[in-house]
Amino acid sequence: MQFRDLQKQYQVLKTDIDAAMQQVAESAAYVGGPQVAAIQEELADYVGVKHVITCGSGTDALELSMMALGLEKNDAVFVPDFTFFASGETVPRAGAVPIFVDVEEDTFNMDPVKLEEMVVRIKEEGKYNPKIVIVVDLYGLPANMAAIRQVCNKYGLYLVEDAAQGFGGTMDGQRACSFGDIAATSFFPTKPLGCYGDGGAVFTNNDEWASLFRSLQVHGKGKDKYDNVRIGFNSRLDTIQAAILQIKLKAFKDYELADVNKAAGYYDALLKDIVATPVIPAGYGSSWAQYTIRLANEEQRDGLQAFLKEKGIPSMIYYTKPMHKQTAFDTSMYDDGDFTVTEKLCKTVLSLPIHPYLTEAEAQEVAAAIKEYLGK
Ligand SMILES: *Cc1c(COP(=O)(O)O)cnc(C)c1O
Repeated sequence: MQFRDLQKQYQVLKTDIDAAMQQVAESAAYVGGPQVAAIQEELADYVGVKHVITCGSGTDALELSMMALGLEKNDAVFVPDFTFFASGETVPRAGAVPIFVDVEEDTFNMDPVKLEEMVVRIKEEGKYNPKIVIVVDLYGLPANMAAIRQVCNKYGLYLVEDAAQGFGGTMDGQRACSFGDIAATSFFPTKPLGCYGDGGAVFTNNDEWASLFRSLQVHGKGKDKYDNVRIGFNSRLDTIQAAILQIKLKAFKDYELADVNKAAGYYDALLKDIVATPVIPAGYGSSWAQYTIRLANEEQRDGLQAFLKEKGIPSMIYYTKPMHKQTAFDTSMYDDGDFTVTEKLCKTVLSLPIHPYLTEAEAQEVAAAIKEYLGK
């Protein structure tokens, strides 16, 4: 069994993907070919935002977001404590300070109440200036955007949506990548919409930021590539990746998003009385970057993972370490008890195989093994 079966997906889409890759090879327009502009338009149309600028990775998309918002030395950027390292990594690179915020136990996403508490605390301490909230759509589920937006409005903060795992998620019919003032996504192969290497995109309705992104990603270009008006870097989505994404986005819209929800539904039905299954609040939709269950404690979680491995069932732990415990960050400003939920989740979460091509029989095999291990 595969954790995320990209080989099966390729077999299904092979004819179209092979033709698209060959077309790019023959055209020799390897950078900036017409497929890049085309996928940007298709993504903008699907998500419902004005501008999409593709770039080299999800991390670059976050980096572009931080650069465009012009961070200064003592600016504070609020980031969930329970996420992938890259969500916070771009903040010190942009010269500012990441401040971590605990998450909700049932949705795994940033807790709006704890966000406000942390913003107030940082303002009161007076050392750092609150400037941006980076909210993450973890495992494919949009965070509580309405409540987080309210906090941003109250304290004059920008909202950046890290939708690296969130592409395809919804809240009241609105799609992920449209909730932030700027959103960033990743096309890393195992994300909900993945290419065949690294790739990413930024999304915004703001014309000024959009032209800034287009400049920053090509060495701070002015009227052309050899007129450089600011310090940027080099971050583009290759034409071949754009061509692959056009085919994969079509499959995603036509059936993959529906099918991955079907796969999650098999697990829900089989596991809901056995373990804590993922909670999707009313009005929300997930794109299931991960299907993550919670066990009673670390011993049970680690034991189950080893048991599944013996049976040839892959599983993953996202994430074993809270952000505030990463050596790379300054972790001196927190109190015991600031991150009780994240600390518990790091000990109890386990992500099961999930993808649009997972069969009901495979879900049954996974569920049977979990039941056997737990003696249920
Ligand atoms: C994968 C991921 C990123 C980084 O994306 P890359 O394309 O790998 O650079 C950032 N944030 C989150 C939450 C991710 O899962």
